[in-house]
Amino acid sequence: MRWRDLMCGEVRPEHVGRRVALAGWTARRRDHGNLVFIDLRDRAGICQLVVNPERAPEAIEVAHEVRNEFVLRAEGEVVRRAREAVNPSLPTGEVELQVDTLEIVSRCPPLPFQLDEEGVDETLRLRYRWLDLRRERMQRNLQLAATAVSAIRRRMEELGFIDVWTPSLIKGTPEGARDFLVPVRLQPGKFFALAQSPQLFKQILVIAGFDRYFQIATCFRDEDLRADRQFEFRQLDVEMAFAEREDVLDVLEQAIVAAFEALEREPPERPFPRLSWHEVTARFGSDKPDLRFGLEIQDATEVTRGSQLAVFAGAPAVRFLAAPKAFSRAELARLEELAKEWGAKGLAYLVYDEGGEVRSPIAKFLSERELAAFRADHGSTLLFAADEPALVARALGALRSHLGRELELVDESRDAFLWVTDFPLFEWDEEERRWTFSHHPFTGVAPGHEDLLEGDPGSVLSQAYDLIWNGWELGSGSIRIHRQDVQQRVFRVLGLSDEEAREKFGFLLEALQMGAPPHGGFALGLDRFLALLAGEPNIREVIAFPKVSSGSDPMTGAPSEIPEEQLAELGIRVIPPKRPRG
Ligand code: ASP
Repeated sequence: MRWRDLMCGEVRPEHVGRRVALAGWTARRRDHGNLVFIDLRDRAGICQLVVNPERAPEAIEVAHEVRNEFVLRAEGEVVRRAREAVNPSLPTGEVELQVDTLEIVSRCPPLPFQLDEEGVDETLRLRYRWLDLRRERMQRNLQLAATAVSAIRRRMEELGFIDVWTPSLIKGTPEGARDFLVPVRLQPGKFFALAQSPQLFKQILVIAGFDRYFQIATCFRDEDLRADRQFEFRQLDVEMAFAEREDVLDVLEQAIVAAFEALEREPPERPFPRLSWHEVTARFGSDKPDLRFGLEIQDATEVTRGSQLAVFAGAPAVRFLAAPKAFSRAELARLEELAKEWGAKGLAYLVYDEGGEVRSPIAKFLSERELAAFRADHGSTLLFAADEPALVARALGALRSHLGRELELVDESRDAFLWVTDFPLFEWDEEERRWTFSHHPFTGVAPGHEDLLEGDPGSVLSQAYDLIWNGWELGSGSIRIHRQDVQQRVFRVLGLSDEEAREKFGFLLEALQMGAPPHGGFALGLDRFLALLAGEPNIREVIAFPKVSSGSDPMTGAPSEIPEEQLAELGIRVIPPKRPRG
């Protein structure tokens, strides 16, 4: 016996007159007593079964018993539907199967949610993921993911990249997140880290002569979960020898275009724009700006030198946004709250009402020159922040994103890709009172900036770049350090003694001394990329089995406690948490 001759979704008028077997899930049953209609579903789509008691007296008995999500096998004849019964919205809508025999292959109790129900609680969806994944949306998303990933692989291979697998159990590679640790039974008291990325392995591979490496790599990071973050995620991981920045960006753009083409979507125009970190932070207050709308930050530091308004006069930077709306007092209070959450001390404003009249407690302190510089459209508001440049950028950047959404300034029909380049190499960690890396410690120093490493680390630029799509960071990469002496100096700025550097990264320092070519690479966060391609607001919708925000898997119940004996074997004792986590 063959289970099926055709997929349910494949039945077409050309099959009329043929006897076929179909198998699938019951999407819907309409029991008219005399006739029973069943929508039978598989991955390819839906086909309508008609069970007629006169034609199939045994099958009708079976059909009365059928409930949603029962698995059925039906044999019968493909017939054309009566003209008034044609369903133009279904690819199979011109035909149906006149059933001769019907078998219930597998049953299903009443469902915890209906498959066509909207707004089902996400934990419930994940608890019964096998049902949830049967839904059209999830079938579509996982298919889209598979198509895009396969096109990316193909393009990488066409470009001469070789897929090399690297270990997950490693000695931690710092990517700025916490490691997941794995105890080792054979060496109690010792731990592997789960790879936050294959960073050092890919560098070693190009040093080893695999001059174009790629991998769809699973990465593990112990971070708080969010819409765009899971403990484990996939990235297109790339590394190339003898590459300049533009070579790497070109490869990534090609991989992205390949995914668009495979999905028969208009690909973004190449080359994607490139803006320096310095420029994006000044203009958009963010290192991942959404360029689908303007609302750029404008500078007023010069104009406000010597201002009567003390907060302007004394501030290292005075900048503003010109929002296309005359905000009410209540709205301004809310915007000020938001600016304060992002570190601003306050939010000064000038509201121009529809008649062009200015409404503002600060207007009377401003000179003619200032007021002239701040002249704006009727029905608009200037929102000012005055403080350290970084703080001003952060607060106005947050306001810009907020207003972009709130005032519906975002042009949803556009796709805005952007490369942000020339990041600072280090960031000052206020809590730890030391320099830390902005990307990772292996990021190359901008040409000509090496001499600043020891004297002025804060002004050293790197060779790092990020890729942004509609305000989401898709990934980052860099041209790497390929000289052992420079790597060692960077470690020192990061506060690692030569001893510690040798202990942690001795293998890298040695490899860099044994014929390391110049090299660089990138990692594209696939789940974010796929979520955006699928038009989904969160990456859980393109991952088959994601964790919820508490970090658990509602389906399997992981993570779970481990029996004492098993822990003892690993030399581990659990210290009960002080407060149970709520
Ligand atoms: N290893 C980096 C990351 O995972 C990417 C790279 O520098 O290639 O973000």
